Amino acid sequence: MNVYGDRGNVIALRQRCRWRGIELDVTAVEPGDEVEWSGFDLAFFGGGQDSGQALIARDLLERQGPGLRAAIDDGLVLLAICGGYQLLGHYFLTSTGERLPGLGALDVHTVGGRTRLIGNSVVETDLATTDDHQPTTVRLVGFENHSGRTYHGPGVRSLGRVLVGHGDNGEDGWGGAIYRNTIGCYLHGSLLPKNPQFTDHLISLAIRRRYGPDMAIAPLDAALELCAQETMLSRLLRA
Ligand code: GLN
Repeated sequence: MNVYGDRGNVIALRQRCRWRGIELDVTAVEPGDEVEWSGFDLAFFGGGQDSGQALIARDLLERQGPGLRAAIDDGLVLLAICGGYQLLGHYFLTSTGERLPGLGALDVHTVGGRTRLIGNSVVETDLATTDDHQPTTVRLVGFENHSGRTYHGPGVRSLGRVLVGHGDNGEDGWGGAIYRNTIGCYLHGSLLPKNPQFTDHLISLAIRRRYGPDMAIAPLDAALELCAQETMLSRLLRA
């Protein structure tokens, strides 16, 4: 699935890999495809309308379920946005009462509300982005538009606190969930072009998982991206 420019996340991953001389092969997964998930380093799952989610939910669960869940448990780096995030959880009960089964890979569930949660958003998170693996606080800028309210169970930890916007449910202040190397959140935007530290974090996780914990990725100049991020942050936090 892909809404609000989610595909830009794949473009950002590809570009920041290319600038480092890292080859990235991208495979699109369609309903009905047989996928050998253990062969992948990184996966991306975009958002979608309720109708789009209904089209893919059963196939995701039945065809991809066992292999994808095993890969997630094995540390596959996976970023899921909004509708994709919801379908990695136990279920999404839509605002019209349709219950879409989820993969159950993330211990979260989602219930559709009568109003949509829309607008720019900022989530503060800790990422181990540096070579010494020390966590750094990063404020992620994104855009959300969802009816679903997502609630965390004890099997996930939070990606971070919502500083601006509604986050997972507009109630508890959480913005996204993490299980092993799988991260789900509501941040369209696209998320990764707007937040190069997060893009590099995902690339770094994938490289370390494949080639060992001492593999570091080369630093890149991200002055323009960081300037754009900073501009949005000051605008949103001031408001
Ligand atoms: N259809 C879901 C919702 O409204 C997800 C929306 C999205 O991916 N932007 O909650």
